[in-house]
Amino acid sequence: MFLRENTRPVKVGDLTIGGSNEVLIQSMCTTKTADVEATVAEILRLEEAGCQLVRVTVNNEEAAEAIKEIKKRIHIPLVADIHFNHKLALLAIENGIDKVRINPGNIGRRDKVEAVVRACKEKNIPIRIGVNAGSLENHLLEKYGYPTPEAMVESALFHIGILEELDFHDIIVSLKASDVPMAIEAYSQAAKVIPYPLHLGITEAGTLNAGTIKSSAGIGALLALGIGSTVRISLSADPVEEVKVARELLKTFGLITNAATLVSCPTCGRLDIDLFSIANEVEEYISKLKVPIKVSVLGCAVNGPGEAKEADIGIAGARGEGLLFRYGKMIRKVPEADMVVELKKEIDAIVVAFEAT
Ligand code: SF4
Repeated sequence: MFLRENTRPVKVGDLTIGGSNEVLIQSMCTTKTADVEATVAEILRLEEAGCQLVRVTVNNEEAAEAIKEIKKRIHIPLVADIHFNHKLALLAIENGIDKVRINPGNIGRRDKVEAVVRACKEKNIPIRIGVNAGSLENHLLEKYGYPTPEAMVESALFHIGILEELDFHDIIVSLKASDVPMAIEAYSQAAKVIPYPLHLGITEAGTLNAGTIKSSAGIGALLALGIGSTVRISLSADPVEEVKVARELLKTFGLITNAATLVSCPTCGRLDIDLFSIANEVEEYISKLKVPIKVSVLGCAVNGPGEAKEADIGIAGARGEGLLFRYGKMIRKVPEADMVVELKKEIDAIVVAFEAT
């Protein structure tokens, strides 16, 4: 089994996927790539949310040409999503793309594949092979009858084989399926035989709520097994939501070092404060922080002080007021109306102290 730290490290722009590096978060733009203004605006929002690589579709020449301008105005590596058309891959590479997602077996003639591989080698650009259960090659569907994890892994090995024959090894592989058990099985099998970093994803996972649950179940199971070097959550929603979900998921497994965590209670009949709105406001506030602090918002004095003591900063509600804790010590009582403001002040102080270290 190639656990994530045993995979080959692959450079993408100024980042490295695989090896002992952190699991990276990526997303994909929903804009027309040729619309530079809209694409850059979306990428900047994704960057602010914590996206570390972003993919755009390159489905025509205008999109490939736009890469040059988009690259000047963003700060994270840009990935071109290309299907079949090797000329678009060459144009994207010429215009400064950092990574190409293309399946070499689908490009066609050998000389076309060689041209793409040569261009990638010259510019140190990696290729992601993106196997998808919904678009397996005909020869595999004939062999297996329908999409299976085995067929998906065989497809990945088929495309990897083409690149390796050309002595190209800066490869990243995904094996996406919308069926969660199938995706888990495909990635688990792939991790046993593929030494390249795996890009995890549950494709077409659905809307914000359902898609978050499906993606977390599938990707979470794999992360818990030590599989996966980069993740993309696919949601029928604003892609910023994909990044938020990915960060929460990585936090769950302690796989992210630059994110704040909120602990909040589900509330019960003991509650004497408006905890839901406080928790939501605090969550929104800390979601953009790039500092690993833990904040707790608890409803009452039963579990509140205990949990608050475990956090860097926390509040435990009481009747019309809250007990503010910092690093395990109660520092003062605050009226309910001032709770969020006071908590934010303390969070800011911790962030400033952290950034100064
Ligand atoms: Fe209920 Fe208090 Fe526990 Fe919140 S912390 S669930 S209010 S007992």
